[in-house]
Amino acid sequence: MAFDSLSEKLQNVFKNLRSKGRLTEDDVKAALKEVKMALLEADVNFKVVKGFIKDVQERAVGQDVMNGLNPGQMVIKIVNEELIRLMGSETTEITLQPGSAITVIMMAGLQGAGKTTTTAKLAGKFKLKGKKPLLVACDVYRPAAIKQLQINGEKQGVEVFSMGDKNKPADIAKAAYEHAVKNGNNIVILDTAGRLHIDQDMMAELQEIKEAVMVHQTILVVDAMTGQDAVNVAGSFHEKIGIDGVIITKLDGDTRGGAALSIKAVTGRPVLYVGMGEKLSDLEQFYPDRMASRILGMGDVLTLIEKAGEELDEEKAKKMTEKMKKAQFDFDDYLESMSQMKKMGGLSSVMNMMPGLGGIGGGKMPDFDSEENEKKMSRMEAMIQSMTVEERSNPDLLNPSRKHRIARGAGVDISEVNRMVKQFNEARKMMKKLPGMMGGRGGKKGKF
Ligand code: GDP
Repeated sequence: MAFDSLSEKLQNVFKNLRSKGRLTEDDVKAALKEVKMALLEADVNFKVVKGFIKDVQERAVGQDVMNGLNPGQMVIKIVNEELIRLMGSETTEITLQPGSAITVIMMAGLQGAGKTTTTAKLAGKFKLKGKKPLLVACDVYRPAAIKQLQINGEKQGVEVFSMGDKNKPADIAKAAYEHAVKNGNNIVILDTAGRLHIDQDMMAELQEIKEAVMVHQTILVVDAMTGQDAVNVAGSFHEKIGIDGVIITKLDGDTRGGAALSIKAVTGRPVLYVGMGEKLSDLEQFYPDRMASRILGMGDVLTLIEKAGEELDEEKAKKMTEKMKKAQFDFDDYLESMSQMKKMGGLSSVMNMMPGLGGIGGGKMPDFDSEENEKKMSRMEAMIQSMTVEERSNPDLLNPSRKHRIARGAGVDISEVNRMVKQFNEARKMMKKLPGMMGGRGGKKGKF
């Protein structure tokens, strides 16, 4: 899978960062140096890497640490955000002409990039959206290409327009457009001829097609397996004929994947889709944020970081972390932590999201998410509220007679009080471990 190696390297860098309680500027610099190496090895364009590291460094050094995050997590957050930005931030849809007007899309790319396959894949996507695409065989040099388009078009249930190999591609495009008008097609996709390398004839031919018909979208298909070349090809095509977007194929293969990270920065044009296999259904819309999580290989950690930023009440989190560190966690905090955890999707899910914490307590983490547990939780609340102030702040006071009194007060069985106290003690043990595992600084504000 693309990015496996990059992902592994980045995760190692971040693991080291997370294990440090406090980060100096040198720690950040050293980590970013490793990130830089990892990106270069993944075939990300050199200039792109340089700019990326500079941006991350500027943001990371001197930035306030958000409550609920430690400095290591803060660096991951910044790297994640910058990766998303590098890939264009937003998902870009192919712009279609308004109403029932015909949109003409010209597919371009080198031979073997996956153009013909992708043309058919794309037609399938449009068909699913209720459009009526027409595929046009403009590759007159390889009869096999015409046949391939016809076979794929048939598989997709999409009409293919062909005039054999005796006409000029520009004339075929023109005739296809007229056919589409008569036939009620609202999207015309031109499958053009590639060459093994960028050459003048290929560019001239694409230009001729553009002069013969109104092309609304020029989409370049590049092969991820060709690494940096894919980006250079994209740059040349954009310079010569102007492209509107890029589809990167073969990201399912054993590629280093750098093209996906560099295309937008080098051409200014977005990646629209990625090819994830040979089957005609293997075309995925490109989501910069999902791709970044995939690259960082820690989608769950990122979700946690986002949630910590959004949901945790700053002051409460700060106080709680202080208490955790001092192991002064009491029943009042237990109640409070449960309501905070609930906001974050349940204690168990939070624990499972944190690498290394998922298995704590033998995987028997209380789960606060289900309806049944909602009820348990309100009983728990009743029990804690039946305690005296001293009992709440000093859990060790709870002897059998006090527990009986609490059970009566909350209207529950004594066994339930025992169970709750046991769970509380387990949670307290875990909370003591937590600050250390998260880097030791928890919600404290500070600078790197
Ligand atoms: P063209 O010369 O640019 O039209 O390229 P083709 O469409 O003929 O594709 C060349 C080869 O790449 C074919 O064997 C395709 O099945 C394969 N291919 C295309 N897209 C993908 C992809 O996303 N993943 C994989 N694994 N193979 C692909």
